[in-house]
Amino acid sequence: MIEKKFRLRFNDSNVNDSVSYILVSQFKISPVILQAKTDGSGGRMLLSMKGPEKNIEGAVTYLRGMGIETEPMDNYVRRDDKRCFHCGSCISVCPTFAFELDRDTWDVVLDTDKCMACGFCLSACPAHAIMLKMNL
Ligand code: SF4
Ligand code: SF4
Repeated sequence: MIEKKFRLRFNDSNVNDSVSYILVSQFKISPVILQAKTDGSGGRMLLSMKGPEKNIEGAVTYLRGMGIETEPMDNYVRRDDKRCFHCGSCISVCPTFAFELDRDTWDVVLDTDKCMACGFCLSACPAHAIMLKMNL
């Protein structure tokens, strides 16, 4: 069982398709919608899928076949370690506990796998050390 995050882009012909239902019923995957936005030409979604790796691969192929752009999104944020001075401000704003204080070194460690792309840490960092690697 693994968990992976994907960025989905819908167009106006597939924006109303029930992606969550398909993932659960056909692929036995547990989906969690982390973010969703609609605009005039479709919509975008950040989706977490939890399940067997083969099922997730099958679901991605299926979604792409529906015309939904489906891209892995493992690294939404990136930190410039030369700028970071380990003040810890990002720890308290992150809802998924992606930042952690290493008690041995007193460094703030970032686990990008835990990131759900909320963007809170970007404005919390006084050193402007955190950047987006990709936009939702
Ligand atoms: S808020 Fe910025 S400078 Fe402070 S620990 Fe986090 S990344 Fe480093
Ligand atoms: S973007 Fe949000 S979830 Fe991701 S590391 Fe920053 S605060 Fe945490």
